[in-house]
Amino acid sequence: MRAAQSTVVLTGAGISTESGIPDFRSPESGLWKTADPIEVASLIGFRRNPQHFYEWVRPLVRNMLNAEPNPAHYALAQLEEMGLLTTLITQNIDMLHERAGSRHILELHGHLRTATCVECFRKYPVDGFLDRFLETGELPRCPHDNGLLKPDVVLFGEALPFKELQAARRVAQEADLMLVAGSSLEVAPASELPLTALAYGARLIIVNIGRTYLDDQADVVIHENAATVLPAILALLVQGKRERLP
Ligand code: NAD
Repeated sequence: MRAAQSTVVLTGAGISTESGIPDFRSPESGLWKTADPIEVASLIGFRRNPQHFYEWVRPLVRNMLNAEPNPAHYALAQLEEMGLLTTLITQNIDMLHERAGSRHILELHGHLRTATCVECFRKYPVDGFLDRFLETGELPRCPHDNGLLKPDVVLFGEALPFKELQAARRVAQEADLMLVAGSSLEVAPASELPLTALAYGARLIIVNIGRTYLDDQADVVIHENAATVLPAILALLVQGKRERLP
């Protein structure tokens, strides 16, 4: 990381589990244990049964809005501040990187800041809508034509935001180091970004409790808690910086 000119980080749900937000695929606590993703978290599922989607997502959204960034989020923000991290690509929708102070963030799977009407495509800030929905369970509707509002998060079967994906591919090509933290690397196209980085000559570090399909190709693999490992890496880098001072 000290030697790299351009370090890009890719994070997933595992970076936020220490903030109390369950990931999708951890064997015991993952959200996949309780629901069929294609049923509830897909575009088809949303269109077919929005009530079901909203019931499933309600505790998750409440959880995300109440969560606080953890030491892994703060360590990444600090690395960016020190000039040791160029861009942070995240698959998360919980906005915790921003709240921890990261600046150059590409949110590949959207976020919970805005929602779009499925009829007229008007976009609204979620403030007000989400609170009312969380309190009453009433489905959020467009003030203009009463169409359903869909949070601007990417559901299964839905295209990723074009600009973010293009930018993520570009920084992956330009990176000489990619750090993956807290992602199973099972969701494409995000999971292909480290492969792109490798193809363009980058080195790869993976910090993830579970195995990933790229473990064998990575330069460093640490199967541990990112909330412990990332602050430890930060501490070593800070120490190294101090030692190099005259
Ligand atoms: P995933 O659930 O597929 O994988 C999470 C990975 O993180 C697992 O391999 C697990 O072993 C690892 N992990 C769990 N806790 C960890 C920790 N403390 N330290 C290190 N590793 C840890 O998640 P994914 O790869 O991000 O992909 C699934 C999709 O989940 C994404 O599209 C994302 O949008 C969505 N999602 C987001 C959130 C969120 O915003 N916080 C929460 C759940 C799901």
